[in-house]
Amino acid sequence: MKAVVFREGARWAVEDVPKPVPAEGEVLLEVIRTGVCGTDEHLLHGGFIAKLPLIPGHEILGRVVEHGPGVTSPAVGTVVVVDNTIHCGHCDPCLTGRALFCENFVSLGCNAPGGFAEYVAVQAAKTFDTDGMDLTTAGLAEPTACAVHGADMLALRPGSDVLVFGAGPTGLILAQLLRASGASRVVVAAPTASKLELARELGIDETVQLDRNDPDAAEDTLRALAPKGFDAVVEATGSTAVFELAVRLTATGGTVLVYGLAGEDATAKVFPYEIFARELTIKGSYAQAFTMKRAVDILKSGAIRTEGIVTEVVGFEDFERGLANLHDSSQIKTVFEPQK
Ligand SMILES: [Zn+2]
Ligand SMILES: [Zn+2]
Repeated sequence: MKAVVFREGARWAVEDVPKPVPAEGEVLLEVIRTGVCGTDEHLLHGGFIAKLPLIPGHEILGRVVEHGPGVTSPAVGTVVVVDNTIHCGHCDPCLTGRALFCENFVSLGCNAPGGFAEYVAVQAAKTFDTDGMDLTTAGLAEPTACAVHGADMLALRPGSDVLVFGAGPTGLILAQLLRASGASRVVVAAPTASKLELARELGIDETVQLDRNDPDAAEDTLRALAPKGFDAVVEATGSTAVFELAVRLTATGGTVLVYGLAGEDATAKVFPYEIFARELTIKGSYAQAFTMKRAVDILKSGAIRTEGIVTEVVGFEDFERGLANLHDSSQIKTVFEPQK
């Protein structure tokens, strides 16, 4: 079968590789579409938990075509999304209810074969029937699962005034999820005007444009919207300047959620006295664990709208554009379809 393969030295190619054979407990999926994500770029450069050579692609939507030994469901032909994570169940974190930090963590598309291929073998128990959901919506299940985990970590109090920095796919999904989770208002701040327009179309209350090189320039505008600060501020850009701004704009007693992926050695300045005197909470949200079912359910409910989020579809021939689009601010989400 054909697959995208990442190799050492940030090189990649479309290669002919053996078609996977589903092992015990697995099903073989014919890939319908797999989302291209910023994490893929980190993996290409050997970052995150990359195990090269690698068939990347962790946001997988596919059709069941074969059962491995012992598997009876989902039925052949079922269209499913995949929770791409596998936990060992016997390490310390697994045994103490923190499987997200499993010491033997397997993540399809990160350190095991993923979905930028014609076929992928996945655990049958980690597939979720899309029940006829449209492709755009179902294909965003994995980023939605990460947003559900983010919302869990934030533990939003109903009636909270919320600010989300970032209008990428995850920012747009998380902002809507927080609106649906009882926020009294959600403001989205981001640099790209077209993304802010989409945010408003998707039901976000207010938007503020940021200067990518000088986010602080928007501080007065944001403070005018919430003179005492926002109850919860989500940093979904990975920028340390935005993180510092997020802390300043958090109301006394409020929470900052670090949701964006900053560089591993990036540093930001915070004032311990401010955290002490204003009782600020700074929390992280890393990937997802056991939130895929709820992600699929909330997407089925219609509470999160997805129209306009997928801006381009690429195949094997133009996969390069999928990676290039990660640096194109006019693009939101590119998806890969092997049949294209
Ligand atoms: Zn992703
Ligand atoms: Zn484990």
